[in-house]
Amino acid sequence: MGVIEIEVEPLPCTWCKRLLEQRRWWAPKRFCSPWHRVKYRVMQALGFVADILT
Ligand SMILES: [Zn+2]
Repeated sequence: MGVIEIEVEPLPCTWCKRLLEQRRWWAPKRFCSPWHRVKYRVMQALGFVADILT
C-alpha cells in the first residue's frame, strides 16, 4: 500500500524538440517556453494564410 506514482514520459517541445520533463501529467507541457508557443502559433497562422493564397 502506498502512494500511486504515475510515471510521465518526457515530451519534446513542439517547436525545438527539446525534451521537457513532465511534472503534471494532467497538463502536459508541449513547449519549453511561452515564446515557443507563440512562434508555433504564428507559423500555424502563416501556413493557414499561405494555404488560402495559393
Ligand atoms: Zn522549445
